[in-house]
Amino acid sequence: MGDLVATRKRNGGTQWIYRFSNTYGASVVDTPAHTNGKPFALAVIRWPWDGLTVLGTMCGGPAEIKLALSSIKARPAPPPEQRVQAVSDQSVWDAMGATTVARQCGSCTLCCTTMGIAEIDKPERQRCPNDSGEYCRIYESRPPSCRSFTCAWIRGVGTDDDRPDKLGVVLTTYTLRGRQTLHVSEGRPGAGYQPRVKEITKLGRRARVIDHVAVVGVDGKLHLQQEGADF
Ligand code: SF4
Ligand code: SF4
Repeated sequence: MGDLVATRKRNGGTQWIYRFSNTYGASVVDTPAHTNGKPFALAVIRWPWDGLTVLGTMCGGPAEIKLALSSIKARPAPPPEQRVQAVSDQSVWDAMGATTVARQCGSCTLCCTTMGIAEIDKPERQRCPNDSGEYCRIYESRPPSCRSFTCAWIRGVGTDDDRPDKLGVVLTTYTLRGRQTLHVSEGRPGAGYQPRVKEITKLGRRARVIDHVAVVGVDGKLHLQQEGADF
């Protein structure tokens, strides 16, 4: 078993974070939202946890979860092509027409609410206490998860008007078993289904770089998982 490093309330349930090594951790949640009605769910995660680096998930009862936790250490790390990668290759964004003009976040801080930041124990979907609403109050000393995060817009996708705080969604991609998923994280209810968001996802389909779309609502629940970039 790993070390229990945090316990917190999440979506009406409880989440336990275990740390197994400098590289791997596990998150066990018991909320109905995360378990499809089953009592517990387990996600094996890369450490530090940024909410997107999920390597694999399972649902089950306490005995199954305990067994899975006890086997994490012994299990070899999955090969790179089977890992979820939070930061996509720039080639995906380039294929979706990314501009080469360097962008700055400006007064956008939407990912400071949508992302979970393990280093400061900030859950997903909760505004970070360091977020002034326009900038990070601890920018120079912000945690590694914040430093490494980039969204599609900052990597050049869309127009200037598509900045996440204006559009209401943070777009990222990750790959799992070689399949590219466009992750649409809503900052406003329903924002993930706007025509403009659909237009952007279609860029991925046309370029044949997006296999799958996942829309996560402001409640943190996965609202849509769609094969292909049309939804
Ligand atoms: S959502 Fe993108 S543009 Fe907005 S603060 Fe985060 S990285 Fe910057
Ligand atoms: S520490 Fe700063 S950059 Fe990181 S989530 Fe909080 S406000 Fe955003």
